[in-house]
Amino acid sequence: MKDRLSRMLEMRENIRNCHRCSVREAYDSPVPCAGSVSAPVMFIGEAPGSDEVEQGKPFVGMSGRMLRSAIEDAGLSTEEDVFITNVICCRPFGNKFPTDAEPIERCIENHIFDQIEFLRPRIIVSVGGQAHKHVRGSTVGITKACGEWEDWEVIPDEWTVRYLPTLHPSFCMKGPDDRYGNPVMKLTSPERVELFRAHIASIKDELDELEE
Ligand code: URA
Repeated sequence: MKDRLSRMLEMRENIRNCHRCSVREAYDSPVPCAGSVSAPVMFIGEAPGSDEVEQGKPFVGMSGRMLRSAIEDAGLSTEEDVFITNVICCRPFGNKFPTDAEPIERCIENHIFDQIEFLRPRIIVSVGGQAHKHVRGSTVGITKACGEWEDWEVIPDEWTVRYLPTLHPSFCMKGPDDRYGNPVMKLTSPERVELFRAHIASIKDELDELEE
């Protein structure tokens, strides 16, 4: 346990000291991963916002409150059962997720896979489309993929995890958009929140099954 705690501190320090991409250089705002070193569930969000930068912790602003209350309401502990990180560990300037590959690839190769490998959780959850696209490597959009559990063979022939893509809380706060004929896009904000909470609730059932 002591080794795991020091490894966690080391990973957090690596993020604080990382200067490997243009996002860090443009706006100094690293927010390290947080959570239990023996968490069975890992959440991967998109990028920290201003509240996260201020508190130095992922998912503590409005989106974070929605995520954390859904986790607790599902019967999981945000202290003991979860580990939270982001695709990009620094807040992108202007709060816009980068469109160029450089910072995304750098953060994933230098930090995210390190964290996944360290934690080896039972379950990984992508919170929003960026983690689903860049970490899971899926080409299916999040509004189509959300809620669909699958096996993810993270290390071929060695380690497979249960994987769930879900909506990002910030998407749930927005109203319906029926331009694309996509049923999830057409949902109102309360309906999106309900769907998001149902996805998070399904994590507890999945975990109970894995632990049986
Ligand atoms: N949104 C994210 O994706 N991550 C955070 O840490 C906060 C908000």
